[in-house]
Amino acid sequence: MKLYNTLTRKKEEFIPLEPGKVKMYVCGPTVYNLIHIGNARPMIFFDTVRRYLEYKGYDVNYVSNFTDVDDKIINKAIEEGVSANEIAERYIEECKKDMAGMNVKPATVHPLATQEICGMLDMIGTLIEKGYAYDVDGTVYYRTRKFKDYGKLSKKNIDDLEAGARIAVAEQKEDPMDFVLWKPKKDGEPYWESPWSEGRPGWHIECSVMSKKYLGDEIDIHGGGEDLIFPHHENEIAQSEATSGKSFAKYWMHNAFLNIDNKKMSKSLGNFFTVRDISEKYDLQVLRFFMLSAHYRSPLNFSGDLMEAAKNGLDRIVTAAENLKHLVKSAGQGNMSEEEGKLIEEADSFIKKFEEAMDDDFNTADAVSALFELVKFANTHASSDHSEEFLQNLLDKIVKLSDILGLIVLKKEEILDEDIEALIQERQDARKSKNFARADEIRDQLADMGILLEDTREGVKWKRA
Ligand code: AMP
Ligand code: ZN
Repeated sequence: MKLYNTLTRKKEEFIPLEPGKVKMYVCGPTVYNLIHIGNARPMIFFDTVRRYLEYKGYDVNYVSNFTDVDDKIINKAIEEGVSANEIAERYIEECKKDMAGMNVKPATVHPLATQEICGMLDMIGTLIEKGYAYDVDGTVYYRTRKFKDYGKLSKKNIDDLEAGARIAVAEQKEDPMDFVLWKPKKDGEPYWESPWSEGRPGWHIECSVMSKKYLGDEIDIHGGGEDLIFPHHENEIAQSEATSGKSFAKYWMHNAFLNIDNKKMSKSLGNFFTVRDISEKYDLQVLRFFMLSAHYRSPLNFSGDLMEAAKNGLDRIVTAAENLKHLVKSAGQGNMSEEEGKLIEEADSFIKKFEEAMDDDFNTADAVSALFELVKFANTHASSDHSEEFLQNLLDKIVKLSDILGLIVLKKEEILDEDIEALIQERQDARKSKNFARADEIRDQLADMGILLEDTREGVKWKRA
């Protein structure tokens, strides 16, 4: 399996640090608003990478953070007259609902910046001890020039960068390229005690700390949108490698932008649709399918026509699967004939094509084409003349490939009320015994089945979405 490594600007063979295991970190959103569909691109793509790695038999440890302290969150809190915490909690919940709609699996861990301050204080302390950071009146800066490899990911030269950089009047840093690790609070801002000042962390430090805590000093894959290459990921490398003395991430993967009229979709430009906007018109599976119809390193222009094409494409797969399911139910208990066996071998070639595309730097565009070829083949041979075993085999193949892409093509069987209540009870028990991971897992499992939970004073209430 090959993937394109931003660090070397080459497609490289994927060899994990530890056989059979993949440690993966993907930078998550800053939670001050509903996520837009540009933010959804890395979520969908890296979830697909994870699903494919799992399909290949790897045990994937997938960590993705929520940035829950930041200027934008604080500003929004001031605007609404509520706490920053309330804003962050609200939009984390909303983001999780959008993720469930897009069939993005919950990460193994979703750490929150505000819960990891201790680790940040430790890492900043280590960086100061090692001479990589310095404190000026309560603000701690990273001493960029001291890190010899600075610029290795973005291929930027520190002298060129410096020529374009200026020290703002209020700053007291040694060098224009130095960046903030810790800053003192301003009035009314959330803050934490630290050896340097009552304050809060800079943005970059959280990912280095969370990655180290949940995955260790060295990880296999680090991902995010390409706007994060510089300075965010460059700074993460500087922090992590100066702290540990080891190489931080082996493979760096970056998705290209989702554009509108060939301009990056972003909150600041105001040219965005939220995932919630899209969900009013389409099942979010369509959005997922639309994203995967392009290669992740190609810019993708959002348009109504392309969404319609995605909807039609997905409908074709769903219809083929439903048709096969119907035929399986009505077919007798028959086993496959020799002739049918040969047809299945032919169908296997589409699986092979799909895998070859995914093995080639996660070329989901070609993988989708292979899935369409399989669907076409299945439609040609879907008839009641065939045996149950043959029809089921074709159906399993379609479901398997769709599942790797995170597409649900067969409606789930209705879940019974008593099963829901049993799961809710299990969640309550898990919470009582402080097994919050299991409790969250059950909530997500129920969300997947369209069951929404509400914790009230009278106990847990649930409803079907
Ligand atoms: P942010 O909340 O801006 O930090 O973004 C969260 C993630 O979404 C990061 O990985 C960004 O690179 C990514 N992202 C933001 N806008 C876009 C876009 N228009 N296209 C693709 N990825 C994006
Ligand atoms: Zn990050």
